[in-house]
Amino acid sequence: MGFCINCGQQYQDGIRFCRLCGNQQPGDQLLMRLRQEAEQIHYMRLQMQAAQQQYAANNQFQQQPPRW
Ligand SMILES: [Zn+2]
Repeated sequence: MGFCINCGQQYQDGIRFCRLCGNQQPGDQLLMRLRQEAEQIHYMRLQMQAAQQQYAANNQFQQQPPRW
């Protein structure tokens, strides 16, 4: 049992489409997949940030003026 994410109409388990508005109901598998994708994107973003920081640190190191 759940509620339509579009119009709030209650619907029974196993029903894919809302009787009131015809909106497709997200199944547990879809919700799980969306959650996994969100976590992957979050992880990728963290990796990119770390890589950018490392790149900036390397550049800073390389761009230091030579000491005379
Ligand atoms: Zn609906």
